[in-house]
Amino acid sequence: MTRIAIIGGGISGLAAAFDLEQRRQAAHDVEYTLYESSSQLGGVLRTEYVHGCVVEAGPDSFVTEKPWAADLCRSLGLGDQLIGSNDADRKTYILTRGRLVEMPDGLMFMVPTKILPTALSPLFSWRTKLRMAQELFHPPRAVDHDESVADFVERHYGREMVDRLADPLLSGIYGGESSSLSVRAVLQRFAEMERTHGSLGRAMLAARRKMSSGPRKTAPPLFTSLRNGMQSLAEAIVARLNPASLLTNMPVKAVEPASGGWSVSVSAGAQAEHFDAVIVALPGPAAANALCNVSRDLSSELGAIQYGSSITVGLEYDLRVRRALPPGFGFLVPRSEGKRLLAATFVHNKFPHRTPEDRALLRCFFAGSNAESVWDLTDEQIVGIVRDELQQILGPQIRALRAEPLFARVYKWKGAMAQYGVGHLERLERIETLRKAMPGLALAGNGYRGIGVPDCVRSGRDAVKQLLS
Ligand SMILES: Cc1cc2nc3c(=O)[nH]c(=O)nc-3n(C[C@H](O)[C@H](O)[C@H](O)COP(=O)(O)OP(=O)(O)OC[C@H]3O[C@@H](n4cnc5c(N)ncnc54)[C@H](O)[C@@H]3O)c2cc1C
Repeated sequence: MTRIAIIGGGISGLAAAFDLEQRRQAAHDVEYTLYESSSQLGGVLRTEYVHGCVVEAGPDSFVTEKPWAADLCRSLGLGDQLIGSNDADRKTYILTRGRLVEMPDGLMFMVPTKILPTALSPLFSWRTKLRMAQELFHPPRAVDHDESVADFVERHYGREMVDRLADPLLSGIYGGESSSLSVRAVLQRFAEMERTHGSLGRAMLAARRKMSSGPRKTAPPLFTSLRNGMQSLAEAIVARLNPASLLTNMPVKAVEPASGGWSVSVSAGAQAEHFDAVIVALPGPAAANALCNVSRDLSSELGAIQYGSSITVGLEYDLRVRRALPPGFGFLVPRSEGKRLLAATFVHNKFPHRTPEDRALLRCFFAGSNAESVWDLTDEQIVGIVRDELQQILGPQIRALRAEPLFARVYKWKGAMAQYGVGHLERLERIETLRKAMPGLALAGNGYRGIGVPDCVRSGRDAVKQLLS
């Protein structure tokens, strides 16, 4: 019998546990125990139901292109609960000099693939539009070092593109600033396009031509979610696990090699448990603490993975606001606009079944230094800031926004979003070398090869594969 400990009950740890449970039921000789420090499993996957609205405190969906989360939902029998984003209404606005400007059609992240909509868009100055045209002539470039996303984008399209698009788009995903995120870790595909084509515009057009020459397929929705919210994924996993294997309110203090296996201790004085192998599915700094007696080098590499905090605020309004809001998924706010809010999603437009037909639900987002700047305020004060800024951004057209929201919810996530800094992939190689020298240890979580839910699911399953192969 192989006994495996899983430390951390977020989606990464739960995906590992579900994989082990499936193997156990298929008569593999394995057993697992999952340790979670809080009282609830699922980590940042939290959903509340208020006034008939599905309010996501953490992630609201995942990108459809990465299949691992949707595959997991199907294995759990949640296939009929999967819902796609309303892409027919997919418009995103960028606050530009105080005004919401629609992102032009054909932009793939920051790469224009349609000339006319970009050329006519008031989002960019003529100078940036000229840079876009010149970019098409960039020759292939062999780059032997990592750099920040901001430097990479600026090299291709200039500073305005960093400020108006790259930075706000990445803030919405990583909560971080493009000047400190690694292009190789965060925009791997674009770094590769530069190596092969030089121009990102040309590379993207070549990829589109290749796709359109193949058989015509209807594009899947950009985002996928679950009808009853993301927490239902965590709940469905937990319902399939062996209850005796799940230890909540059990913060792990230390994981150490012992007698050819691993010992896991939860508090000073308590008896440590012995396992054959261990999956540490924690954010980098928590993993560094738990493993500090195993290897100082490993612990310091894990501890060096930066994490940022974020705050989501859900606000419900009535039909007047719903009717008056612009169509689309929501808006992003470049830092240069001087607001604290980084983004807002019009939830009632983005997904079906999220609100009653006569309600509007806004999900507002703070991250990084913007989240830190309001962290110690009360929920009421934070809601006050959100309402002020919403009125400044949307208010001139929407008088009904001045009314009290029908409900307001504030969710704070301390150090939950990994920031892949410049040199992240090299750090992962060092971590992998150190880990391989410690048989029976595997790492999973959002600190390594993807922060999104699908990548976390994959990391949990890969950790099991590593240990059992
Ligand atoms: C506000 C927000 C919005 C997001 N939006 C999206 C989105 O829309 N789409 C998307 O794909 N991704 C999104 N993400 C990212 C994604 O949700 C996370 O990266 C992912 O859920 C992390 O899962 P995890 O299991 O690796 O970590 P976590 O969920 O952080 O879980 C780690 C668990 O370990 C526990 N723990 C910590 N220390 C110990 C210890 N010593 N002993 C035992 N247990 C411990 C914690 O309590 C926690 O439950 C978002 C994240 C946030 C915070």
